[in-house]
Order: sequence, then C-alpha cells, then structure tokens
Amino acid sequence: MLTLGQDDILLDRKAADWRAALDQASEALVEAGLVAPGYRDGLHAREAQSSTFLGNAIAIPHGTPESRTHVQRTGVRVLQFPAGIDWHDGNRVYVLVTIAAQNDEHLDILRQLTHVLDREGVAERLAAAGSRAEVAGLLSKAVVEARLDDETLCLNFPARDRLELALAAAARLRQAGCVGNDFVADIASQSPLSLGQGLWFATSANDVKAPALSLATPEAAIGQGDSAVSGVFCLAAQGNAHRSLLERLTALLERGEGKDLHQLSAESVLARLSGESASAQTARARVLNAHGLHARPAKQLIQVARRQSVSVRVRLADGSGEAVSAASLTKVIGLGARRGQQLVFSAEGEGASQALDAMCEAMQGGLGEVVQPFEEGREHVASTPPEGAKPPEPLPADTPYQAVAASPGMAIAPLFVMRTPRFDYPERASDAAEQKRRLEASIKEGAEQLEALVHSAQGGEVAEILSMHEEMLDDPELHQAAHEGIQEGYSAEAAWWTAIETAARAQEMLADRLLAERAADLRDVGRRVLGILCDISLPTPPDHPYILVMDDVGPSDVARLDTSRVRGLLTARGGATAHSAILARALGIPAVVGAGERVLTLEDGVEMILDGERGRITPAPSTERRQRAELSLKEHQRLEREAWAARFEEGRTRDGHRVEVAANLGNTAHTADAVERGAEGVGLLRTEFIFMAHSQAPDLETQIGEYKEAMDALNGLPLVARTLDVGGDKPLPYWPVPQEDNPFLGLRGIRLALTQPEVLETQLRALLLAAAGGDNRPGRPLRIMLPMVKDIAEFRAAKAIFDRLLEEIPAEQRATDVQLGVMIEVPSCALLAPTLAAEVDFFSVGTNDLTQYTLAIDRGHPALSAQSDGLHPAVLRLIQMTVDAAHAHGKWVGVCGELASDAQAVPVLVGLGVDELSVSARQVPMVKARLRDFDLADAKAQAELALAQATSDDVRNALEVR
Ligand code: PEP
Ligand code: MG
Repeated sequence: MLTLGQDDILLDRKAADWRAALDQASEALVEAGLVAPGYRDGLHAREAQSSTFLGNAIAIPHGTPESRTHVQRTGVRVLQFPAGIDWHDGNRVYVLVTIAAQNDEHLDILRQLTHVLDREGVAERLAAAGSRAEVAGLLSKAVVEARLDDETLCLNFPARDRLELALAAAARLRQAGCVGNDFVADIASQSPLSLGQGLWFATSANDVKAPALSLATPEAAIGQGDSAVSGVFCLAAQGNAHRSLLERLTALLERGEGKDLHQLSAESVLARLSGESASAQTARARVLNAHGLHARPAKQLIQVARRQSVSVRVRLADGSGEAVSAASLTKVIGLGARRGQQLVFSAEGEGASQALDAMCEAMQGGLGEVVQPFEEGREHVASTPPEGAKPPEPLPADTPYQAVAASPGMAIAPLFVMRTPRFDYPERASDAAEQKRRLEASIKEGAEQLEALVHSAQGGEVAEILSMHEEMLDDPELHQAAHEGIQEGYSAEAAWWTAIETAARAQEMLADRLLAERAADLRDVGRRVLGILCDISLPTPPDHPYILVMDDVGPSDVARLDTSRVRGLLTARGGATAHSAILARALGIPAVVGAGERVLTLEDGVEMILDGERGRITPAPSTERRQRAELSLKEHQRLEREAWAARFEEGRTRDGHRVEVAANLGNTAHTADAVERGAEGVGLLRTEFIFMAHSQAPDLETQIGEYKEAMDALNGLPLVARTLDVGGDKPLPYWPVPQEDNPFLGLRGIRLALTQPEVLETQLRALLLAAAGGDNRPGRPLRIMLPMVKDIAEFRAAKAIFDRLLEEIPAEQRATDVQLGVMIEVPSCALLAPTLAAEVDFFSVGTNDLTQYTLAIDRGHPALSAQSDGLHPAVLRLIQMTVDAAHAHGKWVGVCGELASDAQAVPVLVGLGVDELSVSARQVPMVKARLRDFDLADAKAQAELALAQATSDDVRNALEVR
C-alpha cells in the first residue's frame, strides 16, 4: 500500500501558475526516481481530461493510464504551495499530492485523503504547516476500521443460552485474529446486556488486536419475552474505531429490525448492519473500471445519483462497509472500490427501481472510461491490505534469517511458494436436488482422495491423522447441516462451508489447544471438498526438488507432500508444536516455521538454504555460502548413513564411556519402530497422549493394555513412563481446570494429579500390573517419573500412593524391577536436588520446561521461543547441580527434553555427567553417532567451557570455535 512518509513532502514551493506547479511536481517525481521525464506529458494530458482537484485545497495530479509506462516505481510526492495556486477549474490549491502508480495503488492514497476532506479547517492548516511532519500528519492519518464481515459472524450456532452465544461470538473474533485469550476470558466472565428486540451485547477492550464486532445467532429460538435471544453482539473495542459500527447497530434497533436477525443469512445481516433498511430495494453492479472507482469515474457516478428522484446509497458487497450516500464524492471515493468488486446500491420509495437501474447502467457503461467485461474465474479482485498495515518487507538476499526450528535437517533448493487459492462460488442456488448431488459426489471424491493418501502414507502418524480426516468427512451431522443449508436455498459450496465453519467454531469454543487443532483439521477437510466443488486444484509444484513455502500447513497438506521432491518446509505462521510440525518431523522433512509474512514475498525459484536444526533460512545465498552449505549437507547425509548402519551399537563415547540413548514417545504403538531405530529403551512415555485419545479417563484395563503394548515391543528394554502431565496449557476436556491467568504457572503436572489422587493411583496401578512377569517371563524394567515436581513434598505425596500399591499388590502380579523418580523441570527442584536425591531413584531433566522456567520465556512464544535455548549457562548450572546431587547418592540422571538431541549440547551434557539421553525416535542413530565423536575428557572440557560463559550465544560460539 502507498503511504506518505516525511521524505515524500516538499515544503514552501512557489509557482507562477498551475502548469508550472504541475511541472515542478513532475520534476520532483523524476528526482525521486519514481518516473521517467516522459511522465510530465501524462500529468498534463490527465489534467486536460478533467480536473484532479479533490477538495479542501488539495489536488491529486496523476498520469493517464497510457503514461504508466514511464512509472519506474510506485510512489508519491507532496508539494506545498503556501501562497496557493489558482487551479484551472477555479479552485484554490495549497497542496499537490502527485502520484506515480504502476497500478491502482493510488486508490489507497485517495481513500486516506477522503478522510482529510471531511475535516474542517484542513486547507488552512495545510497552507500554514511549517514542517513536513505536520503536513504528513494532516494528510496521512491512517484510518482504522472495525471489522464486521462474514468471518466475524457466527450464525445458527447451537447454543442453549446467551452466554454460550457470547462465547461463540468471542471465539469467532479470536479465530479471525482480532482478539486473544484474555478477551475471551473477559467475555466469559460477564453477563451480556440487553439491547432490546432480543439482542444482547457483551464487550471488552482487553487483549484486542484489531477492533471488531461479532454477532452470534442461535440455531433455534431461545427464551421468550424479555429473556428472548435472537442474537448476541460481541464488541472488541479499541479507541474510537468501532463507533460507526455501534451507530449502525443503534440505527438498526431504531428501525425495529433486531427481532428477526437470527432468521437471516450472513449476507442479509451484513446488509442490515450496513444501514440498508429491510424495506429498501437493492441492485448489484460490478466495478469494471481498470483502476477502480478513482476520482473521475466516481464523479460521474455521483452525478447520476444526484439526478435521481430518491436518495441512493451504495456499499461494497463484501466486508462490513457502511452504505454511504451515492451522491457524495468523498464517500464514494472513500469506498476504495477496485475493479471486479461488487457494489450494492439501495433506495426506497417511489422511483427506487428506476434509480437503481440508472446506477447499474452507468456502472456498466464505464462511467466515462472504456471498460472491458470482468472475467470471473480468470480475473481476481485485487486485494487491499488493511488500512495502516505495512506490506511485509522482502527478505534480503544472502542473509541468514532466524525463525522457529520445527524439524531437523538441512535443505538447499529453489522455492515453491504455495499461495492459498481463492474459492469463488455463488451463495445461492435454486436447484436443491442438483446441489445435493454435487455435494455428495464431491464428498465421495474427497473420501477417495483421503483413502488413497492413507494407503500411500503406510501407517504412522500421517496415516492416523488422515484416517481421522476420513472420519470427519463421514460425520452424518456435518452432512445433515449442509443438506439443510441447501434446502434453505444455498449453493452446495456455501452450505458445505457454513456447516464446516459452524462445527469448527464449536470445537474452538472449548478453548483447548489440542481441540483447537481439531478445528484446523475440520477446515482442512472442508477445503478439500470445497476445492473439488469449485474445481480448483492447488497450484502445481515443480517437477524438480524444492522447498515448499506456505502461509501455514494443514495436516493434509503435509500428507500430500511428494516427499521425493519436497526437500524442506517453510511456513509464515505456526509453532514447533503444531500438528504440521510434528508431521514434518515424522516424515523427516527439515522444517522451519513461524517465519512471518516476509517469507511469502519470496519469488518462486529463488534458491534457499533451510536449516531445520537451527531454525534458520538464507534466501538467495552467495556461491560461497551455498558451497559451504552443500558440503555440510553432504557430510550430514554421509553421517546419517553411517549412523543408521551402526544404530544397534550401545550408546558410548569414543573411549567407551556408557551413555544410554532412549526414545521419547507419545504413542505406545510406535515403540517397535523406536526399537528398530536403535533405541535402548523408552526414556519418556508422555502418557497424557493416551488420556487425550479417549473421551473420558481410560480405565485400568485400557491403560494396562496400552502400557503392555509398549513393554511387549521393548522386549526387556526399560520403559520410563511419565505420569499424566496435563492441566494449564494442555487441559483434558474431561478434567476441567478453572480459568487461569497464567496456565504455565498454574495447576498442571503433579500438582493437578494430586488433586485427584484416585486417577494417579489407577495409572500407577496399571503401570505396575502391566510390567508383571509371568509364564516364565521375568518382570519388565519399569521406571515411573513424576512431572513438574517443585520439591520433596510433592514427591512424597505421590510416593505414599506408590508404596501403598507395592504393599497391596502381590509381587508376582506386578513389576519388581521398578523405580520412582522425578522430572527436573522446575528450577526449585534442581536447586533442591540434594534434598530430593536421597529419596528418589532417578532424575530426568525436562529441559523444555526447565529452560522455560529458568529464562522466563514461554516455550511456545512465536517471537521469543528462538531465544529459549537450553544451552544457556543458567540451565546448564541447574543440570550440573542435579547430576552432582544424584551421583553423590548413587542415582542416575537422564535428559529427555529437546536439548538431548542437540548436536552441540550432547558432549556438554555427557561432560556434566548425564547418564541417559532420551530423544525422538528418529534422532536415536545420530545421537549415538555423536557420542562416538568425542571421549569423556573432551566432553568434560566442553562442559566446563560452557559453564563459564555468560549467555547461550556465548556458549554456542565458544563450543564452535573450540
Ligand atoms: C520437558 O519439559 O523437557 C519435557 C520433556 O516434557 P514436555 O516437553 O512433555 O513438557
Ligand atoms: Mg515438561
């Protein structure tokens, strides 16, 4: 978008007449490198066609469309003439805003200026302004508009009361990116206020990212009389931006049109809130003008409106725009309408239909310009970035850029930037039977695609997620909802997408991160069918190896990846814990995520080095940098091959010091795969995933079955099971935790488990029973560890249950080779390790949480998580204290956080005395290989060096140059 900067402003100009002023403006553009000298004639030619005087002493000279060939770069130059110039149309001008635009970006400037035109006294202030900052301030005040559109509406929601509706509306705003969790929490804690006519209102200014208004309406009537609910408005308030929306809401109530809002479609609701009355007649017309409704065609349009016997209003069909007077030039320009956009004209009373016909005819005629028909499907409406938003700056070439590491490995390849396709479809359709048939056929085709993908995924997490998609697609309630939509006159596409959105929103209302990811899965499934219905296939990737760049990746996008060609994955959004990142790891594709919008400005075909280990990308690397990266990639591939061949060797340093290498698992079904990769046991079984896979707490038998599956596959290798670690940021739906301001510091891990000791007891019992020997089979080695322990008191509370079970269950029916330990995740526990070491059997350091709590950085923070480095000397000192205390009591220490597989960290951890490293199964061979790289004395020296540093960067640098 074009914006005015102070450097664009030239003060204190003098000119003999308007022609000389125009020449100066042209020279200023040339000097700024925006245009070639030939543009001058274009400026004069345009002025000869009609005046570019806008109002309030401002003219906006710009070249004719033909003269755009002289434009080198889009930009503006503002010239101030304090003495004023008599413009050729009789007006007096103090400021020229001279535009060099390659396309219709000048509409953005026009939109900004229309707001200036409404302000009184601006002409005089522009003439008298003594600084560029003052002129810029007067001209370029960015306009923040509150959002109200399809995406902020939540219609026909299956709610039972107005609070549920308020929550649905708030969740909708969160999903649209307008608010954060604190806003939703605020809405949840208030009772909506009555506006009358069955409408209710809830608002908060807390955690608002963009002002917006949402409306949730119920699926079926709620309440009667004073407590009737036909809708709940939820306002995300910020400054004054929402004022006009509230005024329109008040106007709607004054017209008495609130009662039936819940019976209306999204389109009609937006129309009512735009200020269009229910009794108005409307007509739509598309903007055909190549450069949108700029000043000249807008002038023609208002003249047609002024000739009508009734007043005509106009608004943009999409978005929340207000219906404005079609007879006001500033208002019409202020719409910022672009080629291809639809306008809705409305008028009431006698003469309305003639007026609407006249407006549409004028639009069709081109409003004084030669226009071409708009080719739907082939042409797209140019999109406008939100007012005030800066376009992302392109990434500089050959410069490493830090984002979030999501899946290890390095890739060097050209980019393929996948831009999300637009689905254009009619909202309404009259042939319900045909729409149903189309929908059914598309759902069937979608299911077949998924089936084929499940087949080619050959098991594993990808297949599991795709099977879940298949189940979602088969959901009779979803089909039923879409069929009802079709019956009400919607097209198959519109009905299907509404059904998907409603279901996804219901999912999101549960305010649970994992369930919210389910909503993303639903939309992913929905888009698959929508793509089939609209016959839109995704852009075809190149037939050579490439790095895929996307805004965000849905699970099925990852599953669709052609792994023979995709060398790496880069996303603008998302974090390392998203489903897609987990899948990228499962597929072994190097990935960097959360890199921000700037990566989407990269061109297809640009080379990139993507380092999934460090979360670093380097676009357009120099030949030398590329060669260096290629060498290390080749070296890495060679090491991987060697590591794989030696994966069943015991984990030992070069000089034979033993360090066990185990696997972290969330799913017991993956145990055999981990063993096949060389894991010497399971070092961390995240049992919460077993609980999350069930709609209620799994009973004793179910749990025994799960744990046995892992133990059978381990065939005598040890299993370290962590007891249920939920609460806080990862709640279990069937174990509600009160709303917390800071879930990471709240009721989670062992703290939560001890509030319901019977659940913990069942889990301990299941683990003990599953590890029993029998039938000439010895008992299996079982290690149980407690998460998030802060001191000995919590350990003792859990140990009391554990000891009682050991007493209660006869030895032959339970594990005999069993240990009880704690995770070191909370700094207090590391600091107090000497007090714990005497009583626990072992420690396992959870460096992910330990780093989070030591450095006070949320581990999932999109901007800060890159700084959350476990190689920080503060974290290392805590590990050192833990190991020293444990070894003094003859106890062992493992590390099961991500740090355990960090190539630089491995020798440091070994040097600190860590006895076991537990890493993701894929990493096992490489971590074993890394151990063979150094001997113990070397590791100790590295640990000492690291401990002596001041920051994690210092640690990494010191280790690198060593
Ligand atoms: C850790 O915190 O390092 C850990 C292993 O536990 P989780 O990542 O499951 O919280
Ligand atoms: Mg943890």
